[in-house]
Amino acid sequence: MITDTHAHLYAEEFDEDRSEMMQRAKDNGVTRFFIPAIDSASTERMLDLEKNYPEEVFLMMGLHPTYVKENYKEELAHVKKWIDQRNFYAIGEIGIDLYWDKTFLKQQQEAFKTQIQWAKEKKLPINIHCRDAFDEVFEVLESEKGDDLFGIFHCFTGNLEQAQKAISYNLKLGIGGVATFKNGKIDKFLNEIDIKNIVLETDAPYLAPTPYRGKRNESSYLTQVAGKLVDIYGLSYEEITAITTQNAKDVFGV
Ligand SMILES: [Zn+2]
Repeated sequence: MITDTHAHLYAEEFDEDRSEMMQRAKDNGVTRFFIPAIDSASTERMLDLEKNYPEEVFLMMGLHPTYVKENYKEELAHVKKWIDQRNFYAIGEIGIDLYWDKTFLKQQQEAFKTQIQWAKEKKLPINIHCRDAFDEVFEVLESEKGDDLFGIFHCFTGNLEQAQKAISYNLKLGIGGVATFKNGKIDKFLNEIDIKNIVLETDAPYLAPTPYRGKRNESSYLTQVAGKLVDIYGLSYEEITAITTQNAKDVFGV
């Protein structure tokens, strides 16, 4: 059994063939899917996905940093309304992204901090999105660290030192397609990180692993990432999938 800890399976990219895509995932042993939120526009689509796959799909709720704009207070109120109203398995994806736009850095920092505090109140893990913003993300984590802070550093692309720092904040590293890229770099040091700190993820429909790089990503391709970890850790495929699935259970509590 393989767990995809981060997949946008409600995305429009899957509207044409979602049931076939889900079947391919199951055929490849990928049977549990944790679904990150983006903004209020994705909520209905997430709930629909959950309705169609109630046994396999586990929803998160949160405001993605790239969507922190002028109206971020309204968007945060939407997140708060939903987490007060029903159960979610994590607050995510949340964090800081300075790759596209630095205009709203202050607001991104505030939204990140606020949502971490909500996660702590609800005793939920966080799912962190960090792009070109390691220093800024670590600054917020440093101010919020504690036993009640835990979760996943999604799509981890940093160096060994940053990996160890993330782990010191009770975070597991979300490893996906980038680990299979020729220039992805993380495969060079991952063997120095204990496998108990690793979870698998696709970030589908983005970041497809080799040999599908550049194409639409889907959860069945997680077998490629698991295969890469077999090479990196020298463990069997069964061991990699069992350990990373257990790690995901430890984080999400399900
Ligand atoms: Zn994502």
